Amino acid sequence: MTNAHMFHNLVVTMRRRTLGHEILIEGVGLHKGGPAAVSIQPGSDGIVFVKHGLRIPASPENVVDTRLNTTLGKSGVAVSTIEHLMSCLWGLSITDCELKIHGEEIPVVDGSALPFYTRILGAGAEELPGEVLPIRVRDLIRVEDGESFVEAAPGDFSVTYEIEFPNPVIGRQLYVYDGSNYDTQIAPARTFGLLSDVEKMRSAGLALGGSLENAVVVDGGKVLNPEGLRFPDEFIRHKILDLLGDLWTLGAPLESRIRAYKASHRLHIALAKKIHEAYRQEGR
Ligand SMILES: [Zn+2]
Repeated sequence: MTNAHMFHNLVVTMRRRTLGHEILIEGVGLHKGGPAAVSIQPGSDGIVFVKHGLRIPASPENVVDTRLNTTLGKSGVAVSTIEHLMSCLWGLSITDCELKIHGEEIPVVDGSALPFYTRILGAGAEELPGEVLPIRVRDLIRVEDGESFVEAAPGDFSVTYEIEFPNPVIGRQLYVYDGSNYDTQIAPARTFGLLSDVEKMRSAGLALGGSLENAVVVDGGKVLNPEGLRFPDEFIRHKILDLLGDLWTLGAPLESRIRAYKASHRLHIALAKKIHEAYRQEGR
């Protein structure tokens, strides 16, 4: 897969792509903490999650929950925490594949998109007949909640994301991403949480599979992971990873200047839904 990380900032029209052969990724599930596995198979019908025999296409319309992660659902069947896998598919410009969930959850791997990226890259890519037109944003589309917002403006692809946490380790971080070098700049950035929040989630029976093996955990002025951070600004890079995954539910590259401030999966998906509504007439 030579042009694996496409230059999304330069993309005009891209060929549909799937992976060369099936792969199986195993690990633990984030929420229940049990064994989890997903097989990723070549396909030609967009990105489709399959669970308990039910097919759920990755589309903003099928997102049913964005509280802690991005969850797709249909007819009472839900697939949670799709965003890191979706992000890596964006990074590899994979437009078509089937993701079969064995059991309840997608494996959390190391909390980043890198293990998914490496495995799918290893399977190679196949070009499919047909092309995907980018969604060319012509007017500003914005969603906000208090001071938080995400917006898509006309222009070449770029993402500018800023976060501000009272925690001194995270603090204020800003990152401008031009769409290149996803594998080295974005994919390795792990999910993160404050120890106090992790404790709250666990007492509510959530994030039972979460550990220092698959998340950066911050307590006061300290990173608890013995290996430390992968980047000094790993936190904001992970926010960009999440945003790219959430927006890839649109199934087409965005030709747009995207800006986000203190946003969340909820706002990312709200933006994707608005873009989907605005441009669906154009055959997507
Ligand atoms: Zn994430």
